[in-house]
Amino acid sequence: MPKRDYYDVLGVDRNASQDDIKKAFRKLARKYHPDMNRDDPSAEEKFKDINEAYEVLSDPDKRSQYDRLGHTAQGSAWGSGGSEAYDFGGFGPFGSFDSIFDVFFGGGFGDPRAARTGPERGRDIRYDLEMTLEEAAAGLEREIPIRRLETCDTCNGTGAKPGTKPTTCPVCGGTGRISGTRSTIFGTGTVSTTCSKCLGKGTVITDPCGSCQGRGRIPKTRKIKVKIPPGVDSGIRMRVEGEGEAGVRGGPPGDVYVYITVKPHPVFTRRGNDLLCEEPISIYQATLGDEIEVASIDGKSSLRIPEGTQTGTSFRLRGKGMPDVRGRGRGDQYVRVKVIIPTRLSEKEKELFMELAKTHGEDRSASKSESKNLFEKIKDAWEKRA
Ligand SMILES: [Zn+2]
Ligand SMILES: [Zn+2]
Repeated sequence: MPKRDYYDVLGVDRNASQDDIKKAFRKLARKYHPDMNRDDPSAEEKFKDINEAYEVLSDPDKRSQYDRLGHTAQGSAWGSGGSEAYDFGGFGPFGSFDSIFDVFFGGGFGDPRAARTGPERGRDIRYDLEMTLEEAAAGLEREIPIRRLETCDTCNGTGAKPGTKPTTCPVCGGTGRISGTRSTIFGTGTVSTTCSKCLGKGTVITDPCGSCQGRGRIPKTRKIKVKIPPGVDSGIRMRVEGEGEAGVRGGPPGDVYVYITVKPHPVFTRRGNDLLCEEPISIYQATLGDEIEVASIDGKSSLRIPEGTQTGTSFRLRGKGMPDVRGRGRGDQYVRVKVIIPTRLSEKEKELFMELAKTHGEDRSASKSESKNLFEKIKDAWEKRA
């Protein structure tokens, strides 16, 4: 399915300010929030699009990249919706927007507690992983420490002291809702609100679990193993499904997102899957030709320098670049040679160069007269015009 333009999704102009984008996002997110549109399944899809568009356009870097490249450049660098190629598992229905939602709607949107009475998904956790270009080329497996809330073993997440049970809420009698009357211009009606004592659970903990103080979850640091495939680049985000924080009231756990940064390399510059480097060669190698050894990302390669190579010439070593992260082959390595002109010559060397210059004497004067001819031609052309 072709993606809709992110600006169209948010209904803003391409020059919209960050403020306009935020306003448009809030308005639309409220309108299409799945909780407000339980009967309209298409709202969920719209809500995801809105979140994805906002995730890109609210970030100045991503926005400018998007402005330049559009959806074509969309790897997982964009929002939560587009990274299937790099996922360790499938996508949950909402990817990672729960945290975005909390940031924007924590206070002012409806009754935030009302939405928190049922099972709640655990939060996602971000982990920043920096690696060298060599590691990115080879792929790597690493154990990363993740600090997260886990379900309390002592009470199994109930929050109640072992041997005790949560008791029926005395305020709502276990229904989780409290009914009352409210007068409106249409008359008096019955309204039902979430019980504020038990937050809708219908039960309260009278004897809290000692290990978690009744919270049901305990912070722990765990080492989790992540496998980074060969070919990743900065900006790629990998998802490790289900390794985020434990859910609440039977909700599923969140995910861990590993944000990758590949450090700059002293020798290679990366351009897509290609690697560029510069290699100094001597004036003799450039003139006479040679076979040289150059560094590649995973070892050494040999490169044939043909006779009469000019400085700045690039040679391609096919398949010596970075592996493609989707497994589609490898990029190439481009070696740009730089001819080093000798600076401190011995008397003997100077003599030899002069000797060479003499043997080239004819050629040099020939090229001089050629350029003179060219000058004359230009002069003629001007004179004809005048
Ligand atoms: Zn506990
Ligand atoms: Zn209650």
